[in-house]
Amino acid sequence: MNVLLKNSRLVMTQGLINGEWVDADQKATLVVDNPATGEELVRVADMGAAETRRAITAAHDAFPGWSATSANQRSLILETWYDLIIKHQDELAMILTAEQGKPLAEAKGEIVYGAAYIKWFAEEAKRVYGDVIPAAQAGRRNIVIKQPIGVVAAITPWNFPSAMLARKIAPALAAGCTIVCKPAAETPLSALALGLLAEQAGVPAGVINMVVGSDAPAIGNELTGSKWVRKLTFTGSTPVGKLLMKQCADTVKRTSMELGGNAPIIIFDDADLDQAINGALISKFRNSGQTCICSNRLLVQSGIYDRFIERLSEAVGEFRLGNGQDATTTHGPLITDKAALGVDEKVQDAVAQGARIVTGGAPSDQGSRFYQPTILADATPDMRVFREEIFGPVAPIFKFETDAEAIELANSTEYGLAAYLFTQNLSRIWKVSEAIDFGMVGVNETAISSEAIPFGGVKESGQGREGSKYGLDDYLETKLICLGGL
Ligand code: NAP
Repeated sequence: MNVLLKNSRLVMTQGLINGEWVDADQKATLVVDNPATGEELVRVADMGAAETRRAITAAHDAFPGWSATSANQRSLILETWYDLIIKHQDELAMILTAEQGKPLAEAKGEIVYGAAYIKWFAEEAKRVYGDVIPAAQAGRRNIVIKQPIGVVAAITPWNFPSAMLARKIAPALAAGCTIVCKPAAETPLSALALGLLAEQAGVPAGVINMVVGSDAPAIGNELTGSKWVRKLTFTGSTPVGKLLMKQCADTVKRTSMELGGNAPIIIFDDADLDQAINGALISKFRNSGQTCICSNRLLVQSGIYDRFIERLSEAVGEFRLGNGQDATTTHGPLITDKAALGVDEKVQDAVAQGARIVTGGAPSDQGSRFYQPTILADATPDMRVFREEIFGPVAPIFKFETDAEAIELANSTEYGLAAYLFTQNLSRIWKVSEAIDFGMVGVNETAISSEAIPFGGVKESGQGREGSKYGLDDYLETKLICLGGL
């Protein structure tokens, strides 16, 4: 085992089923490595269909007991879990950086961000209100109650291995649901550490189950095919999300889908340039460009175009690529060699079609998963960087003249997760915010996410919302009780 992780008591290498830490049935293991160095960190259980079935049974069996606990009791357990995560935030961040690659400060930010959902839903658990609806007929009363939907399946990606899971488990448990989680094969350690702390916080056996494995289709088939699983909550790519929705159709499961994005960031001539540069840097390059709400297309109005590019390139010149565990590193590696190659292919496609490299434009000599922070000027909508999620540290810049053109460019995508605009004009803020088809719009701000807001997309970026007062609804059924003969 890697030396840094050796002394951590939060590094778990088995799955969690019915309160037991267990190996894969055939003792198979899968390697978790450090994307910055390629070094093997640890091997974890490589589970498949049979273990998933047992996890579903455990969640099914635990559901009657957990859903019958009082909201206060569930709230207290979630609060305790939150406290434990905060107490261990440095260790959790170290594990996250080791398996995912992001700089330690960003990893710590993710741990605290994810934990905030647990605290939020600990509070919301106590506010699941019903309704009394005046009856259309005499002698009746209509009462509406909210009930937990049942066993939930959660499938999560590697880019935010802690927070994406925390923001699914927390509302599920708050509502009274039990859950089977399948974290990404690249980053299981952060998920398992959360499971361990949940156990220590008093979450009963079977309420949270963790199945770790490399055969995602096999695990996914079990989760989506089971009649006991009443809801699937998925964060990941749009193609996999579509496939899972189809698989869920046979049992008419509820689905929440947090899928890919292709965020425009629109910089108008009247933007505060400092604000816009800062916003673009954060939203484009955080996690080395591997976030679903990363700015993917930088649309810049002609009057500010040259100054914006000059300032952005100066700021990008300050980045320090490296191992996330090194304190001087500002930007880490991409998750796999394949991811780095994919980013380069998109850059080369853009260059072949006339994009101008302002900075970067090639793999970095730091290692096979590192890519130079890149700015491409004179990008056009024919290029792959306009249509596809880049998921890397590449900023393609598109020039526009009018508001109408900016709106049309922004909406020319099947995605609709996040969008950003920078302008000082109040009328333009309203008009553009309302005209663009995205679930979240940041105005003069790109760090928009928190536990208090409804996070989610429209069009092929998904359905459902995570966080906020809306976040519990996805885990609740609405039931009518009609009292007659009164
Ligand atoms: P991905 O390939 O879709 O994988 C996501 C998860 O799905 C992983 O756990 C993966 O398992 C699993 N999976 C893959 N194929 C499956 C199948 N046939 N059945 C069941 N599960 C399956 O996405 P990714 O590349 O890891 O993550 C990046 C994507 O996530 C990007 O598109 C990004 O925009 C999106 N994302 C969206 C949000 C949001 O809130 N909207 C947040 C973060 C990320 P394995 O790891 O074992 O393959």
